Amino acid sequence: MTALPGTPVGAPAETDIDRYDPAYRAWLREAVRKVQTDANRSADTHLLAVPLPPAWGVDLYLKDESTHPTGSLKHRLARSLFLYGLCNGWVRPDRPVIEASSGSTAISEAYFARLIGVPFIAVMAKSTALSKIELIEFHGGRCHLVDDPCEVYDVAARLVDETGGHYMDQFTYAERATDWRGNNNIAESIFQQMRDERFPEPTWIVTGAGTGGTSATLARYVHYTQRATGICVADPENSAFFDGWAEHDPDAHAARGSRIEGIGRQRVEPSFVPDAIDRMMRVPDAASIATIRVLERLLGRKCGASTGTGTWAACRLVSQMRERGERGSVVTLLCDPGERYLDRYYDDQWLASAGLDPAPYSARLEDFLRTGHLA
Ligand SMILES: *Cc1c(COP(=O)(O)O)cnc(C)c1O
Repeated sequence: MTALPGTPVGAPAETDIDRYDPAYRAWLREAVRKVQTDANRSADTHLLAVPLPPAWGVDLYLKDESTHPTGSLKHRLARSLFLYGLCNGWVRPDRPVIEASSGSTAISEAYFARLIGVPFIAVMAKSTALSKIELIEFHGGRCHLVDDPCEVYDVAARLVDETGGHYMDQFTYAERATDWRGNNNIAESIFQQMRDERFPEPTWIVTGAGTGGTSATLARYVHYTQRATGICVADPENSAFFDGWAEHDPDAHAARGSRIEGIGRQRVEPSFVPDAIDRMMRVPDAASIATIRVLERLLGRKCGASTGTGTWAACRLVSQMRERGERGSVVTLLCDPGERYLDRYYDDQWLASAGLDPAPYSARLEDFLRTGHLA
């Protein structure tokens, strides 16, 4: 800001810069309205009761986030990120929105970008499931694939420089873009839907962490609403979150990328709020995959592997509660549908080539379903 020419040195400078742009504000109003209409048209997601013997005295539920219009819990995040970016003046007409993603967020963001009429570019690892790439393109987005998953952040930033776009940066902004106090966020919805159950206040809510945003929202909400519910994050192999949390080390690093799409990161993402989390469990990848195969029989449907990670951890919690004679409920998330991963988690050849053998974990789960004890 420079003073008006001729302002005497030392005199109070009276300046006025007016950037109010009626055309942009009309565009902004319309864009915010369109994002809100998507929320208005959407129904709440179901809370599924997983059939366990009632006599166990511990009930297990899955919050089914696969029924959003773009098929995963990232629909909530993308809506929040677009509103945050729009209301901050970051998302602008004709300015491409760019995102680093493992796929699910990019699918949902491509949908919202098209809804408000801005270009969308996803930066993802080459290893991302092909069906996710196809879904991003189906929603009108473009995919920019990189060899090393660690590169996605830098490449996204470079594309922003080249295109004048806006880097949405879910890994930084997920936790603050979401309304954690309420507004029908995932936590408020779970507690509303649990209201008439026999154990309405879950002993534990279990989630994985990709951005960490879901665990942050769940934890803040239970603290804010003064519940006793504990928040447990289930982490896969090749993820920095567990070590970062256990050692209080924000610089923890994992050497390889996660095989459980959507969760597990090589760095502790800024949106992960470790001090709000009560408990973490590391879950073997083969256990996550064994679990979605058993879940298919219990629920009659396929789920993504991150649902298996959370459900394996949830079954361990159920088992421990039973050992202690505790009654109560445990809630975890059905994060996305398994149909996106038919050529990986549901393909025995892919499992063998990845060196993953779910058989021992399947046997332990079958025992659990018979006895209520997960050894
Ligand atoms: C993103 C994601 C998660 C974890 O959610 P965050 O809020 O990002 O931590 C779990 N499962 C799937 C399939 C995801 O895409």
